[in-house]
Amino acid sequence: MHQYVHGRGCRWQFLLTEFGFRSEAKQQGKCGHCDRCLKQ
Ligand SMILES: [Zn+2]
Repeated sequence: MHQYVHGRGCRWQFLLTEFGFRSEAKQQGKCGHCDRCLKQ
């Protein structure tokens, strides 16, 4: 779970991938609302 902290990508996208929704994560792209998205 440490990738959640140290990863660079969107947190929501990472969680989707972690829970097995890889295709959904790719389709959606960045959520635009988490702190990672807002900082970019
Ligand atoms: Zn995001």
